[in-house]
Amino acid sequence: MVRKIGVLTSGGDAPGMNAAIRAVTRIALNNGVEVVGVHNGYRGLLESNFEPMSRSSVSEILDKGGTKLGSARLPEFREEEVQDQCIKNLKREGIDALVVIGGDGSYRGALALTRKGINCIGLPGTIDNDIPGTDLTIGFDTALRTCVENVDKLRDTSSSHHRCSIVEVMGNRCGDLALYTAIACGAEMVITPETGYDELEVLEKLRYLGEAVRKNHAIVIISEKICDVDALAKKVSLKTNFSGRATVLGHIQRGGSPTAQDRMLASRMGEKAVDLLVEGIGGHCVGIIDNQISSIPIQEALERPRKSRKHLYRLFDRLV
Ligand code: ATP
Repeated sequence: MVRKIGVLTSGGDAPGMNAAIRAVTRIALNNGVEVVGVHNGYRGLLESNFEPMSRSSVSEILDKGGTKLGSARLPEFREEEVQDQCIKNLKREGIDALVVIGGDGSYRGALALTRKGINCIGLPGTIDNDIPGTDLTIGFDTALRTCVENVDKLRDTSSSHHRCSIVEVMGNRCGDLALYTAIACGAEMVITPETGYDELEVLEKLRYLGEAVRKNHAIVIISEKICDVDALAKKVSLKTNFSGRATVLGHIQRGGSPTAQDRMLASRMGEKAVDLLVEGIGGHCVGIIDNQISSIPIQEALERPRKSRKHLYRLFDRLV
């Protein structure tokens, strides 16, 4: 029987993580299960950085971005000795099970702990929407809102100056944030790991839009880690009749008060995590598929290919 559970946030922070911590804490306490907050992800397990959680520990955090518990990366957590020390610390604290809120790296850590006897449940907390086994991750909708608000502003200014704005958004090798932003903002072009990148093709298309179609401005949304956007903007100025400008949205995409959708998602997923642990299930991750909350083994999620976005790329093409 589960008497005490831990909760931690790991990897990059995402808006809605606080809502998930709150849901896990309150639902567990209401179920008669004690809750311990672990500070700074797996590092907090290693350093026994624990905080007993009460109902009021999670008051007034629902609408706050970031994570109350702090997040960290601990590359050494891949080592068995480090994991064993963490298990010892958890047992000393009387923690029987753990909710890990983070990305796929954090899931791997959760799987390792489960195999060593501490049941863990993973919740997908990342703005990148890059986790298989779920249609949506906690934080994606808020980051999308930030991208859309900012690109809308850029469009105002770029249309006054015959500019081409090249906007780099996050996504960690997943094109969703770029694709959804491009559709929602009516961008002229989207470049993601899924579309591939050919500089000559991009310049050719912009030349066509500027000269043949006589567009006054153009917005290009591009995923991070694809090319040097400043260099691309310079080439746009040289080779097309647009004045190229690069904007890297950067870490503002991680911040801000979570949207209602992210708060709902985090609350529903937090509930599922506690229910699974109370049932004695570990090594699973929670997802939302066709608006139904479900769970699958972490191992299966890590091996599963992500759902195809072909229909959304097609939609983008049909809207341009
Ligand atoms: P995001 O990519 O959205 O920032 P993430 O959870 O994927 O989130 P990572 O930096 O990949 O971020 O992983 C977070 C932490 O999870 C790592 O610092 C490490 O402590 C742990 N971790 C990652 N990979 C493994 C692994 N293979 N085995 C055990 N632990 C791991």
